[in-house]
Amino acid sequence: MLLLGCVFIAATAFNKPINPGPGHPSQKKDIRTIIIDPGHGGFDNGTHGLFSKEKDVNLAISLKLGKAIQEAFPEIKLVFTRTTDIMPGNMPTLAAGLNYRAELANKSHGDLFICIHGNSDGHEAGHYEVRRLVGHKYVGKGKKRKRVPVYETYWVKNTRVGTGSYIWKADRAGSKGTAINQRDENSEPADSSGENMGDTTNTAIDMSSPEAMMRAQLYEKKYFANSALFATLVEEEFVKAGRHSDGVMQRDEGIRVLQATGMPSVLIETGFLTNEEEEKYLNSEAGQNEIVSNIVTALKRYKAALEGHPINTDAQPPATPPSKVTNPVN
Ligand SMILES: [Zn+2]
Repeated sequence: MLLLGCVFIAATAFNKPINPGPGHPSQKKDIRTIIIDPGHGGFDNGTHGLFSKEKDVNLAISLKLGKAIQEAFPEIKLVFTRTTDIMPGNMPTLAAGLNYRAELANKSHGDLFICIHGNSDGHEAGHYEVRRLVGHKYVGKGKKRKRVPVYETYWVKNTRVGTGSYIWKADRAGSKGTAINQRDENSEPADSSGENMGDTTNTAIDMSSPEAMMRAQLYEKKYFANSALFATLVEEEFVKAGRHSDGVMQRDEGIRVLQATGMPSVLIETGFLTNEEEEKYLNSEAGQNEIVSNIVTALKRYKAALEGHPINTDAQPPATPPSKVTNPVN
């Protein structure tokens, strides 16, 4: 149900142009800075496959993603939370690492926060042992004789595969609002839709004032819709590439970083490291390149939607392209 609700929001956001229309003064303010966050790092391995660690796969995909975004959009500034195998900021704990990620994103005035992760189905990678009841037998003699179950153990292949994108849970709105105000203490929030919320002065704002709280709520709604839109587009591109997709989901555990960032933010589960074939795919050049290309295509569509000219990548190019038509997104 959560999934449906979320997709609905995304679809709504996509169908209604978020852009207020031509002639609006701040129309050019779209995506200037993207934060790329390779999940885990350093002492935190994340999940394990048969032969690889999540932190390494996340980093490899993230670095490729950065390169591809830079090629597609040279004007976009990229900020990485880490580019090597460390806990971001060399922080000593997971919690400190998450705070560091969020603070860096907020300080950098990110317009989009992308977390890259790999998934686990909770079982051991590859195959795991399962016990099942196959019958009963009688043990003991006389009065002590009793019927006991007989089990056998067998190996099950770990078959769960696919992608999924997470956005924060809307009912945990408070922390997102606080982050939005903190991030923008000294500047106007990056206004991805080009709408001006009327707060053009840079005078100090009392963050607990009703005005600041209302302002945070307005941005929060917009960031939620934009996060859902981007997540939906990413999952659509994965499906087009033939991957199984669990769709867009809301989760509040383990994605505190999504709530603490004052900007649209999405956590992408790129696949299951616990599945042998998918682990190979996630570690391969071809697999990583495909994932990156899917995310970049989604980003192109997202950016175009925010700018008011959604592109439909489903459209087949005409056999003979009309000479005068230029594609604004290439
Ligand atoms: Zn992870």
